[in-house]
Amino acid sequence: DSPLIEVRNLKKYFPIKKGIISRTVGHVKAVDGLDFSIFPGETLALVGESGCGKSTTGQAIVQLDPQTEGSVLFEGTDLSGLSHSEMRKMRTQMQIIFQDPYSSLNPRKRIGDLLAEPLIAHKLADKKEAYKKADEMLEIVGLTKFYRSRYPHEFSGGQRQRIGIARALILNPKLIVCDEPVSALDVSIQAQVLNLLKDLQKEFQLTYLFIAHGLGAVKYISDRIAVMYLGKIVEIAKTEDIFKNPKHPYTKVLLSAYPIPNPHLRGRERIIVQGDVPNPANPPKGCSFHTRCPIAQEICKVEAPVLSGEGHMAACHFPHSPIS
Ligand code: SF4
Ligand code: MG
Repeated sequence: DSPLIEVRNLKKYFPIKKGIISRTVGHVKAVDGLDFSIFPGETLALVGESGCGKSTTGQAIVQLDPQTEGSVLFEGTDLSGLSHSEMRKMRTQMQIIFQDPYSSLNPRKRIGDLLAEPLIAHKLADKKEAYKKADEMLEIVGLTKFYRSRYPHEFSGGQRQRIGIARALILNPKLIVCDEPVSALDVSIQAQVLNLLKDLQKEFQLTYLFIAHGLGAVKYISDRIAVMYLGKIVEIAKTEDIFKNPKHPYTKVLLSAYPIPNPHLRGRERIIVQGDVPNPANPPKGCSFHTRCPIAQEICKVEAPVLSGEGHMAACHFPHSPIS
């Protein structure tokens, strides 16, 4: 299968400005050289602590906030080569769902208008068709068309996320970037929204980039997982390989935060890493995880490990060493 999305050496650097003339004194390397593909129909999870660059990556992929270097290919087309109007067309293929759908839903507009709007704006339907499609969409995401004349504030968090999903889906996209879509919801509602996303994926042959801060949330929804730390991917593999045979110490730390329902692994202690996430404006030399890694050696302070392996890739000099 050829990939739907190919990310090549993706970088997003933000300048650090100082003084009254705003001199650039350095860069925050929010995303620092990512290479990966997303295949049609799969869910790739992007996991890491806040500030690791996962949302920035998602926004660059849909070109909401394009990269400063490297490229994103959609079905083989380099997005940075597209004109404004070509990109506008392309955007219907790539939608994004945010953690807080409320902030992306205009509070003064009725739900029916909010859903019909993108179809009309992209000239994909006339008014009548667009409103009919909006009604259908409300039913598809588990709401009812009778909600069409209500306003966003009249809905619960879970319902608003369903509306956010409907709004993304109405353009019939191929890719949806889900940026922590359930993190702000009550635990009881989270599973419902995840199940909805799974059902919609099957029904509409969707491909997901699913962003989350922990591994627990993505265990049941992702086919593969990429773990990010300080702007880089430190491990990428099939979901079951990440859970059964994690290689990178940071992945092992993230995993230890979850109770594992496997009797052979019971009693696994939660591993607490020392220190805070380093300042991304001034990341540690060598392996950027060495300041917190429980098994760091001298080489780790000077030589950055490269992401390597067949299928299951990790960036660590000691991928086979146990950490506790
Ligand atoms: Fe830890 Fe060294 Fe591996 Fe980095 S390269 S994760 S510091 S063991
Ligand atoms: Mg984020």
